[in-house]
Amino acid sequence: MNKLKVTILGSGGSFGVPVLSDRWGNCDPNNKKNIRTRPGTLFEKDGKTLLIDTNPDLRQQLIRNKVSLIDSVLFTHSHADHTHGINDLRSINLANNLKLPVYADQKTKENLLNAFEYIFVSKNMAQYPPICEIIEYNAGNTYQINGFKVDVIKQNHGNMDSLGYIIDDKVAYNLDVKFFYDDQYFDKIKGIDCWIIGCLRYEIHPAHAEYNQILKWIELVKPKNTYLSHMTALIDYETEYKKLNKINVYPSYDGCVINL
Ligand SMILES: [Zn+2]
Ligand SMILES: [Zn+2]
Repeated sequence: MNKLKVTILGSGGSFGVPVLSDRWGNCDPNNKKNIRTRPGTLFEKDGKTLLIDTNPDLRQQLIRNKVSLIDSVLFTHSHADHTHGINDLRSINLANNLKLPVYADQKTKENLLNAFEYIFVSKNMAQYPPICEIIEYNAGNTYQINGFKVDVIKQNHGNMDSLGYIIDDKVAYNLDVKFFYDDQYFDKIKGIDCWIIGCLRYEIHPAHAEYNQILKWIELVKPKNTYLSHMTALIDYETEYKKLNKINVYPSYDGCVINL
């Protein structure tokens, strides 16, 4: 099997860490692993790359991780912390002179077209041609995208749905999730090599599963390794690392690389 490299570009919540005005919550400001940009993840295999979401910190993440080529983007949903860096794809587009394919479900496609029409549609502005082509896809299906096998999963995210992914049967990616609709989902990913799961905080949240719920899920799924992501300033790296590493659960951090 070909090697899959996963880079957590941003491990933070929608505010990042620190929050403006130097607010660190429970996080130790002296630990660099607590400095978190907004959520995004890159998958690489055989020289091809899949980016999940275009968060507002995308430019600095791509520079830091020396990424100059993206072959496709998969969107999870249209919340601002997952989409508002979309304009940073312009430099990727210019460097590679290709219209970048981005994948989204119907609702996210609609929202992206409304918010960022110029990214997708030509408006007689020859000097700024559209940079992305949007492709609609559906949860419940499996797609081959640039050599990656992508299972698209519908998950609840409070008063809306978002998409989760299983990439190459090796990584389950469920970031903005309150609960799963499919009773069989945990069976489907049982014992998977890697689970990247959104874990914002300890307290119950209307749109995200909380810490204790996530630990219960992990007990059921028993992934070989689990990485927490989308963490707010309430989750301190070292505190959680010490608590969880013995059960192969790790808080992720910006620039964290997982080789599979
Ligand atoms: Zn969201
Ligand atoms: Zn989010």
